Amino acid sequence: MLLSGDLSDLPVQASGTLSASLSTLACDPAQTRGRRFAEPAAPTRNAYQRDRDRIVHSTAFRRLVYKTQVFLNHEGDLFRTRLTHSLEVAQLGRSIARALGLNEDLVEAVALAHDLGHTPFGHAGQDALDECMTEHGGFEHNLQSLRVVDKLEERYPAFDGLNLSFETREGVLKHCSRANAEHLERAEPGGVARRFIDRTQPSLEAQLCNLADAIAYNAHDIDDGVRSGLISTEQLLGVELFAHYHQQALGEHPALAQKPRRLLYETIRRMLSDQVYDVIDTTREAVARAGVQTADEARLAGPLVGFSPQMKARTAELKKFLFAQLYRHPQVTDTTGRAKDAVRELFAAYVAQPAEMSADFAANADLHRSVADYIAGMTDRFALREHERLTGRKVL
Ligand code: MG
Repeated sequence: MLLSGDLSDLPVQASGTLSASLSTLACDPAQTRGRRFAEPAAPTRNAYQRDRDRIVHSTAFRRLVYKTQVFLNHEGDLFRTRLTHSLEVAQLGRSIARALGLNEDLVEAVALAHDLGHTPFGHAGQDALDECMTEHGGFEHNLQSLRVVDKLEERYPAFDGLNLSFETREGVLKHCSRANAEHLERAEPGGVARRFIDRTQPSLEAQLCNLADAIAYNAHDIDDGVRSGLISTEQLLGVELFAHYHQQALGEHPALAQKPRRLLYETIRRMLSDQVYDVIDTTREAVARAGVQTADEARLAGPLVGFSPQMKARTAELKKFLFAQLYRHPQVTDTTGRAKDAVRELFAAYVAQPAEMSADFAANADLHRSVADYIAGMTDRFALREHERLTGRKVL
């Protein structure tokens, strides 16, 4: 059932029982711009549900469980991996989508696919691979996520990739340089890269996934950071967003002073909830102000999904704190520095001896791109095993 385009009509209830009706601003699977290779519709699933199922069954998706988010996979069993991060993004994204009457299935598909192009060893791996590819077109994980779903997955008889719908692919390609956009545009005129040339927005569902990504990692990196002992609650109390909910939780439950882990969870839970409600309220207002009525009008209206100015400032402060105190912590940068060396050495080894890669990759005419694809697809531990096999040395 379609409601009016004004999202403010929809009730938000703190309990989370929200209207399941779609706004006219939602992407409608019946109106999809379709797949690159025509396929008959599925009897029981819409286009986005089918996309999500293809993503969940892909090889790249299963590999996410052994890929680093911030902490290397072998450092502990409870830290987030790319897989649990992606699940948290999907959960947050769906909650917000449901409240706004946006398409939950599309949000889920984009969220589950958004990090498929990440290399092993997190951002360190991507930076090292980008350096290795400087003379050969570079390496960018968003572009790689699209490459995974468009080309690298091999599951279907008639085409490479997963043949996902336009709207899911649009959401997967969340950033793209002008040069890369022009390159993609030549291969697919008017396709998913077009908006980076025209400077328009992706669907509201895609915009939402970007924000859900940031909400998820800001929260889970606090949890993982404290668990690792690299950052402390005392340090976090210097961050307004954290301190506010910490104080609130302690005020309502003084006994939590004796239970630091529960206090941390309660603080994070409150932080997450308020960010979610802030996005819902701010987006409703932005949509009403813009006066847009359809998904296509929303794409032309500038960014509409976002935080209020106050929440934006508070989350920026938290992000800055995490950068300085966690992502650049000497213990993290020491490990990621060694992981970078491993990627560089692996790259050099495969370029010198392509036959050391699996046959499909070794046979590819564009050797450097093929090596980048091969390494990007690796899990942390496979990359470490391969590095040891080819160089005789252990990096970690
Ligand atoms: Mg992410």
